[in-house]
This record gives sequence, structure tokens and C-alpha cells, in this order.
Amino acid sequence: MSNKHTTSLRGFKDVLPEELYYYRLIEDVFKKITNSYSINELRTPLLESTTIFDKSLGSQTDIVTKEMYVFRDKNGESVCLRPEGTSSIVRSVIQNNLVYDRGIKKRKYWYYGPMFRYERPQKGRLRQFNQFGLEYFGYPGISSDIELIILINKIFTALKIDDCQLHINSIGNQVDRARYSSEIKSIMSRNTSILTDGEKVTLENNPLRLLDSKNSQIKDTLSSLPVLYKSLNEKSQKRFDSIIKLLDQLNINYILDNTIVRGLDYYNDTVMEWKTDKLGSQDAICAGGRYDQLIQSNYSIDVPAVGVAVGVERLVEMLKINQASSEKTVYAIVNNSGGDMNLFIEKSELIRVSYPQHSFMNTDPEGSISSQIKYAKKLNDKLAIIINNNQIKLHNFKDNNEVEISIPELEKYLY
Ligand code: ATP
Ligand code: MG
Repeated sequence: MSNKHTTSLRGFKDVLPEELYYYRLIEDVFKKITNSYSINELRTPLLESTTIFDKSLGSQTDIVTKEMYVFRDKNGESVCLRPEGTSSIVRSVIQNNLVYDRGIKKRKYWYYGPMFRYERPQKGRLRQFNQFGLEYFGYPGISSDIELIILINKIFTALKIDDCQLHINSIGNQVDRARYSSEIKSIMSRNTSILTDGEKVTLENNPLRLLDSKNSQIKDTLSSLPVLYKSLNEKSQKRFDSIIKLLDQLNINYILDNTIVRGLDYYNDTVMEWKTDKLGSQDAICAGGRYDQLIQSNYSIDVPAVGVAVGVERLVEMLKINQASSEKTVYAIVNNSGGDMNLFIEKSELIRVSYPQHSFMNTDPEGSISSQIKYAKKLNDKLAIIINNNQIKLHNFKDNNEVEISIPELEKYLY
């Protein structure tokens, strides 16, 4: 059965309970770790004025040229479903005077929620996906870049993901990039025969992006260029050197990666991605960098900033590969008090209140005891709780033995 009544849109998926388990796990870890750094949550609308993204992402970027869900509302205004978080968060902190009020305020925020991009759906690439992001405002120093790196690493560690590697690079300032872009243009314009039509457009509009091209002929051709770092201004070079030194001192693993340039125009200096070799070609799990000029150029206020965004669906895939079990322990509560439903409900509620960290399921209180026990065994083949009028009994499936037990004594048996 495949028609529009029974099928979700391409690239849009339902998240069923088994998978939601992983989303919850990830959300819990995010919340715990951001809390330990005293970072506040900020929620912005899913629908925004299109200009917010046109302006901050850059008119030639993939997102703006191809991937945005843009439409006119009934008033004729151009609106879009947010394709990423940073531009909205920046709009919000300016609108609400959160980062500037007769002077820069230092602020740290996190966000979590769906983003929308009209891309070709494939494994690890959806049209609606979730990002968890962090944005620091008012911190120009390298300690903020490092704090973000440590925080993201902590998230991976807490989720027991150890096959994800930080790739780091510096792209300096706009002048450095313009100079390097023209060097790329001059080399590549002598070799246009190796470029596809799409790559020719990239060469014209965003030549730096060719550095992270998967086309090996492009890679070979560009390998004759000195690495980008060498053409950075002195201040950016020194900044990057200090970051690398600190990473070394702190024993944080990284790969210096000249191909990390990021697709968006707003970045400067530090750019980074966490990649894995477990997910095929959609290998980036987290990405970000500094965007010290974005607020200045869009809102004429000078607030330095740095941020990262994690692709939650790709993290979910990693957890599945690592086979973190999504099976949660449920304890069945079986009714053996006959029609005395008030006794059963009162007792089962008492158990829930006493053990709020555990999950209990009332199997089918109106059903026969044998059918309830059968169902209980499916839910949990070790034990079931039976309410027998005023008594509570523990049913052990190993030997089908039953013992009377008090609610406080239950603690020993719940795992
Ligand atoms: P990619 O190169 O994979 O397209 P990107 O550079 O467009 O990534 P960002 O905008 O930096 O990605 O988003 C941060 C993270 O969000 C990515 O590293 C990835 O994990 C995730 N992500 C981006 N686009 C998608 C998508 N269409 N579906 C699922 N996850 C995505
Ligand atoms: Mg993309």
C-alpha cells in the first residue's frame, strides 16, 4: 500500500518507540552535560523570515541556493522552515537584547530541535532532521573553542561512542580566504576538464568548497597548493597555534585537516567537524566553528561567537551500530484481586509512587489470571508483581514460585 494517504513525505520520518529510546538517551546526555557547564536553553520558532538565512548563510551556499523550504504565507511574505539553528539563535539574541546592551554580554546557549533541508534523502540524510547545537556569544578567546571541544567529546564519551574523531582547521579571515580562493580559481581554471558542471558552479561561487571535494582528480590538482594555514594572517596563525598547543597539553585527540572549510560563509578562524568511518559517506556527526563577524555584518553590533551543531539522527545510527540496547525493563503488575478494582489500582499506584525511576505495566486487570501471567512473562521473563487483595506477591518465572512481599522489600528485586 503506497499512496499519499499512507506514506509520509520523502525524507520525513516517523520515530517509533524503539528508536525514540535513542533520542531520549541522547537528549538526557545533552541536558546533563550542558547543565554542568551552566548553559541555558533557547527555543526559536521553526518558521522564520527567509531573509534571516539569506543574509547570514551567504547567497551562494548550498543551503540558500538549493535546500531551503521557502514559501509565501497568506500575506505574501517570504518565510521558510529553518534549515539550521545558528541564524535563528543569532536573530533571537539580538531581538531580545541577550548578548548586547550598551556593551557585550557573555552568554552561552544550547538548542535542540528539527531542521529542514530539501536535499536528496539517503542514509544519514533526511529532509527533516534534528540538531543539538551550542552557541557561545561574547567570548573571543581560545578557551571557548576548547570548552566546546571538551563538551562535545564528553557527550560522545557519555554515549560510549569512541569511533568519532575531531578534525580541526583554521580558515583565517575574509581576506585570507579571498586570496586562497583566487589561488584555487587560478589552478582549477587551467584544469576545468576534470570538473563536473556542478563543480564548475562551485568553483565560480565558493571555490574553497572544492578543498573538501571527494573527486580525486581535484584533490590531486589542489595538492600543489600550499596548505591554507600558510596563507593565513599572522594573528589567525598564532590563534590556531595556541589552540593546537592547548589540545596537546590537554591530551585531546585531533586531526589537522586542511579539507575542513565548512559550507557556510559566516565562519572564521577555527572550523571543526567530528567524523566517523562507521556511517559511510554521511560521515560528519558534529560541525561548527567561530563566526566572529556574523553579528557585526548583519546587525552592526560587534559580538564574537563560536558554535557547533550535532546531527542527532547520525548519532542515533552510531548508537544502533554500537548496539546500545533499546530494551527497557518493564515490570508487569497482575491483578489477582478479582473485581476489586479499587484495591488493585490503589496498590499499583502505591508501587509507582514508591519507585518513580522504574516502569510498570498493568497487564490487563480485567483479564483472567492465566492470560495476565502469560502477557507478564512476555514483558519481563524474570519476575512479575501480583496484587492479591491486600497482599503483594512476587512471581518468579524461573521456578514459578510466589512469595509475599512488602512494597519497601520490592527494592531488592527491581533492577
Ligand atoms: P553535510 O556535509 O553532511 O551535508 P553540513 O555541512 O550540511 O553536513 P551542518 O549544516 O554543519 O552540516 O550541520 C551539522 C550536522 O547536522 C552535520 O554534521 C550532520 O551530522 C547533521 N546534518 C546536516 N544535514 C543533515 C541532513 N540532511 N540529515 C541528517 N543530518 C544532517
Ligand atoms: Mg549539507
